[in-house]
Amino acid sequence: MSSHHSSAGVIYWFRNDLRLHDQPALQSAIELATKLQTWLLPVYIHDDALEAQTPWGFARTSPQRNAWTQMAVQDLARQLSAFNSQLFQLKGKPVEILQALSHHFQESWIVCEDIAAPYEQAYIQQLKDAKLKVQTVWQSTLMRPADLPFDVRKVPDQFTTFRQLIERPTILVQDPLPVIASMPALPDISGLQTKLKTQIEAADSSPVQAISIDPRSAFPWGPSGFKGGETSALAHLDQYCNSSLPSTYKLTRNGLMGVDYSTKWSPWLATGALSARQAWAAVKAYEAMHGANDSTYWIGFELLWRDHFRWLHLKHGHQLYRRQGLSTQPQVRKAHSSENFEAWCTAKTGHPFIDAGMRELTTTSYLSNRMRQNLASYLIHDLGCDWRAGAAWFETHLIDFDVYSNQGNWLYLSGCGTDPRGGRRFNPDKQAKDYDPEGSYRALWRH
Ligand code: FAD
Repeated sequence: MSSHHSSAGVIYWFRNDLRLHDQPALQSAIELATKLQTWLLPVYIHDDALEAQTPWGFARTSPQRNAWTQMAVQDLARQLSAFNSQLFQLKGKPVEILQALSHHFQESWIVCEDIAAPYEQAYIQQLKDAKLKVQTVWQSTLMRPADLPFDVRKVPDQFTTFRQLIERPTILVQDPLPVIASMPALPDISGLQTKLKTQIEAADSSPVQAISIDPRSAFPWGPSGFKGGETSALAHLDQYCNSSLPSTYKLTRNGLMGVDYSTKWSPWLATGALSARQAWAAVKAYEAMHGANDSTYWIGFELLWRDHFRWLHLKHGHQLYRRQGLSTQPQVRKAHSSENFEAWCTAKTGHPFIDAGMRELTTTSYLSNRMRQNLASYLIHDLGCDWRAGAAWFETHLIDFDVYSNQGNWLYLSGCGTDPRGGRRFNPDKQAKDYDPEGSYRALWRH
């Protein structure tokens, strides 16, 4: 295909949707380019803001999390070139770069997925304020907003009420879209090489760091383990659903060690290398073949929690980012103790179960759901710290960091979110006794 000269076209901005399967936002961009008989430029921006410090005094992204995302970006770039397209990578400030791109190409359209978190929404607002033509597409949930049996801004705060409503009579999840069939031609980008030279070179000079993850990890990734990106995501989904693990998920999901106790889908869902609908469809196909049971149901149940935190963001927005969260009562709270927080971060609280978890987190960049609950509860309810500091620490380290699920779970445990019981303290001694009766987890992460 010949490339068009600098006429107006469509810029597709990849965000947390680094895949070509089940991609409604990219599909819309392709349709728009086809309708306008023009080109489509796929863009990924390495956001400078991810290198900034958090207000709590540490970097917002660890080298590990960065490496995981970069693997997904590289995989996407490879896949796009197989479609005679190309992923145009830049590094800098997304709004500035998108503005420069759109202007360069005669006020081109910018299409991207919608992300309902304040920081991510501010980018879109700034693009709109700059009078750019922006189209966002909602796509990261199992259900489409229009398929909910209530107005999306009136989603029930309590998960159980939400679930019961959407499950009645049966939950409506559209089939995932197939992998895109073709890509429109690229524009001529030669003129950009000088205009955005710094940003292009900066992207070129930040290669993927080869990270070697500790073999003790429950999610062993890196050169000799799981890889980021769509190719590995689909291979892992396939492997999981070709085993008998889905039939025992509910019995094992509270495990702490090993790969098999849970699905391990989250690191790919987080970068969008895997679509939630694709995972849902794989569970349904498994059920059709091997029969449904409590365990297969429960995988979907957990994916509904993921959806719920997304809808809650649309409803409550920035309120989920205040220490007081959704509570309207005046709160009596301890002042955040930076000393206690430091002890928690560095695995020096003196509680062996908690310290083991904190070590696992920074060493492997992944944690079981059970340990996440324990570590968060301990920071909030035993150490009296501001839950947002803990959420920021998880954001830095977890390779499956997902803004909705991280913020949502932390707020929930703090008691200022949507927990009908008003906050949850996990007794760490009892938890260690119940979930690590032999002390093998503590032994594994003693150092
Ligand atoms: P599985 O147990 O196999 O569950 C299947 C899928 O269901 C997961 O991949 C995930 O998409 C979804 N899911 C499961 N539990 C939850 C939950 N509690 N909330 C929302 N979705 C869920 N998950 C993230 O993906 N990113 C985060 O940043 C994140 N931060 C968390 C912070 C805290 C304090 C807590 C308590 C939980 C957090 N979770 C987060 C949720 C959960 O711990 C992980 O999704 C899960 O452990 C990932 O492993 P898995 O894919 O094997 O999960």
